[in-house]
Amino acid sequence: MPHITVLDQSTINKIAAGEVIERPSSVVKELLENAIDAQATAVTVEIRDGGISYIRVTDNGCGIPKEEVPLAFLRHSTSKIKSVEDLFTVSSLGFRGEALSSIASVAQVELITKTSEQLSGTRYQIEGGVERSYEEVGAPDGTTFLVRNLFYNTPARQKFLKTAQTEGSHVAALVEKIAMSHPDISIRFIQNNQNRLHTSGNHNLKDIIYTVFGREIAANLLPVESEQEVLQVHGFAGKPVIARSNRSFENYYINGRYVKSGLIGKAIEDAYKPYMMQHKYPFVLLHISIEPEYLDVNVHPTKMELRFRNGEQVYQMLFQAISQALSHKELIPQVDLVKREEEKALEEARRERLIRSHLR
Ligand code: ADP
Ligand code: MG
Repeated sequence: MPHITVLDQSTINKIAAGEVIERPSSVVKELLENAIDAQATAVTVEIRDGGISYIRVTDNGCGIPKEEVPLAFLRHSTSKIKSVEDLFTVSSLGFRGEALSSIASVAQVELITKTSEQLSGTRYQIEGGVERSYEEVGAPDGTTFLVRNLFYNTPARQKFLKTAQTEGSHVAALVEKIAMSHPDISIRFIQNNQNRLHTSGNHNLKDIIYTVFGREIAANLLPVESEQEVLQVHGFAGKPVIARSNRSFENYYINGRYVKSGLIGKAIEDAYKPYMMQHKYPFVLLHISIEPEYLDVNVHPTKMELRFRNGEQVYQMLFQAISQALSHKELIPQVDLVKREEEKALEEARRERLIRSHLR
């Protein structure tokens, strides 16, 4: 019989890290969300080698005070919640205090950060959960994270990584999603020294759609606006001409967070049903705001599935908002309608002629 042993902290952290950090895009997600939580207005994400060997996230947010830097890397350290009750009202993005400790336990991390109150910045290095350096440096206000050689100490996880190209495209897709969720933040993405995306941060959703999806999509949008007490919707619904054969163009954000929800997906697709061929899916980019007490987002740290307290009401409001946007414009069924009217008129004329010929 093998002996029962208690796992050491570094092993526990590595196992826990597996739940939060699966691949480079999970690192980028956590670091970007932290930057957003830190009130940054401009964030740069840079990756090399699909993010496997190098990830940099630089923000101009509030920074971390020198004395708090090592704390940020402890498991369950967070400045965002104090108790379980807070979980139900918190509107910031990350709030489990697990990301940095997880990342630091499976990669080589360097942090340079400075708050506006402090005169000099802090440089901190941590590898595989072990502190390597902690010193003062000159730095601009804000925070830079460098994450090198992901899973260098966990070969079993490294084996599950795909090619640099595939990992890089996961990161790119994630950065685009986050850019679309935050039109108020200028987001730059650099991949292998090439600029891939740069949003202006000017609040204009249509500009972002143009930047991410191109002209054809941006030219075929109908505005969606709806303000109700519990729920506000703001964004764009694509005309049916830009429909796709999969759901990858159904983008929606709840309280700034990219989520998946069967209920929301259904409300969108049901609203499109009269205008859409079968197996076609619309383009939408919707920002939905809802009172936090109607939501349960904290079901799982990485799952984006969402639960509602009053689902039926949410469905109805969303369905109506989109239906209204779609019915304002000349769409396919109205073209059909015109055709049917014309056909009816022709048919009537024919009947008329027939009757007359009989009368004669
Ligand atoms: P959480 O985001 O759930 O609080 P993290 O492990 O992601 O946990 O981060 C721990 C803490 O480190 C945060 O609560 C925050 O105080 C600080 N922090 C992390 N990233 C940044 C950043 N880019 N700017 C300022 N503070 C940060
Ligand atoms: Mg976080």
